[in-house]
Amino acid sequence: MSKLAELEDLRENVENCKRCSLWKTRNKAVFGEGPINAKIFLIGLGPGKEENIQGKPFVGPAGKFLNKLLKLAGIERKRVYITSVLKCYLPENKATLQQIKACKPYLDKQLAIIKPNLIIPLGSVAAKYVEKEFALEIGKISEAHAKPMQAKAFWGKVLIIPMYHPAAALRNGALRRTIEEDWKSIGNLLKSR
Ligand code: SF4
Repeated sequence: MSKLAELEDLRENVENCKRCSLWKTRNKAVFGEGPINAKIFLIGLGPGKEENIQGKPFVGPAGKFLNKLLKLAGIERKRVYITSVLKCYLPENKATLQQIKACKPYLDKQLAIIKPNLIIPLGSVAAKYVEKEFALEIGKISEAHAKPMQAKAFWGKVLIIPMYHPAAALRNGALRRTIEEDWKSIGNLLKSR
């Protein structure tokens, strides 16, 4: 089976999934999007209201801010694979451990298919996933943000850069400048590699 077929197969599984209670609140599952050969892989928390309507990741207010951040880093969104820990609408914007565990195999498989060399977890839930998956010590996002770490995946070396979730700036305006500076620093790092 080709990588594309594998990914499409997985998408179909997600769209029909009832592994946790979140299937009841979804309008459209948000599987993720981006090129199959993407080098950069972004992981958010889960779909919000707008994403649930459109079935696409980061298309609401946080997505608009993410677009700006990607520009600041000189990264074209169309070259990045974007997905999230949870694939179905989170009405309270919070996920339980049970829901995270139920959805984990999908994200595991997406990573295994795409095999990126830079993974950017956005926010603490995504950072926690990456921490466990790659046996890292990331700790609190307030301390770990924008600090690159090396990890080893079965497909080779991977750079991990934990970042604040873009929505954090919408909830707390004081963080906006920090988050923008963080993304500029990613841009500088990528230019120097
Ligand atoms: S959030 Fe994940 S595990 Fe839960 S129903 Fe949706 S696809 Fe399935």
